[in-house]
Amino acid sequence: MRRRDLLAAIGMAVPGALSGRSSSAAATDSVRPRRLGLAMVGLGGYGRLVMERTRGLPQIEITGMVSGNAERAAATAREYAMGSDAIYTYENFDRVAEDERIDAVHICLPVGLHAAFAERALKAGKHVLCEKPLAASSADARRLARLAAERALVLMPAYRAWFSGHVQEVRKRVAEAVHGELVAVDAHKGFRMQLPAGNWRFDPKLAGGGCLYDIGVYSVQLCRWIGGGMPMRVSAMTAHAAAAHWPDSIEDHVAFTFEFANGAIATGSASWRHRLQNRLHVATHDAWMCLDPATPVIGERLTLGLERPNRIEEVLLPVRDQLPAMYRHFADCIAGRATPQVTAEDGIDDLRLMEAIYASARARRVVEIA
Ligand code: NDP
Repeated sequence: MRRRDLLAAIGMAVPGALSGRSSSAAATDSVRPRRLGLAMVGLGGYGRLVMERTRGLPQIEITGMVSGNAERAAATAREYAMGSDAIYTYENFDRVAEDERIDAVHICLPVGLHAAFAERALKAGKHVLCEKPLAASSADARRLARLAAERALVLMPAYRAWFSGHVQEVRKRVAEAVHGELVAVDAHKGFRMQLPAGNWRFDPKLAGGGCLYDIGVYSVQLCRWIGGGMPMRVSAMTAHAAAAHWPDSIEDHVAFTFEFANGAIATGSASWRHRLQNRLHVATHDAWMCLDPATPVIGERLTLGLERPNRIEEVLLPVRDQLPAMYRHFADCIAGRATPQVTAEDGIDDLRLMEAIYASARARRVVEIA
């Protein structure tokens, strides 16, 4: 689909606007907006999981895939009833520019490849949803943001945690000072890393960083979202396991503190060393809120500890799967039905903070954020 047609096609009913469909399908399209056509780039563990989660979504459908594994791509195409002409390789990826079935791509590649493929997709005129972190460096992420802006395309980091009703509830209560002013944020995420030697997560070029880039980005974004924006100062320490199969630049434990202009202090960590932990704790003047688990795809639990009356209670909120909510928002932004809530700027800010964390750990000093 050409970009100039896109708003019309997915934002409103366009009778018979879609080629290659039966007249009955076109008749249905005349009352229902066309779904956003999405190509999945990288059919690894997460790429295939999110494809599975898009099945049956009213706003989006998988209309293409990009893979270096011909056998897996063919099997996945059969599973999703796609023709072989919907399969692209990393070499011929740029040809998606001519494919009118593909409006956008979701990049599920190793982090070090995000920027190169996001750039190629934007140059092909496609909107981009990119896995976390947005790029391996803030400079790369800025370049992508400029390119997307020049071409009036949506570039969104796939920050699914933003679409958690529980995270939003905590944000809202903090922003509105429902329980008094914010004092502290603690965000911790970790698990015992068991991937074998040779995995891209242990290759600095492909991974961008260690556990901080892999899962610490969640701790960083929660601290920033709840803390109220960019902190003024960052300090951090990293640790490296004795494991022979990853290099010294790939840390397996990191702890950091952020100091905010509003006086709040955040502490965060990420680890590949300890038992599964996924927790957000927020202390305000009159209460504490604990999300545990904090950022699973689905299944967060929020506990509130109050002072007056003195009690601990679970805050029951509707169960919401973050992935459909994220895809719906992405499609709505492209169609002009919504203002982007998660932007490339968020991706850039988190990369700036992760770079400051590494800089602080290396120099063993506090780093000021401009
Ligand atoms: P996997 O290793 O399972 O898959 C990565 C895929 O990338 C491969 O299967 C391959 O797909 C493709 N690829 C292309 N070039 C290379 C290369 N040189 N080395 C290795 N793989 C390559 O990783 P994940 O699926 O776990 O992670 C992919 C992305 O998803 C990452 O950015 C990660 O941060 C993100 N992620 C996000 C999660 C979330 O909750 N938001 C959870 C997990 C991961 P193919 O075989 O089709 O060519």
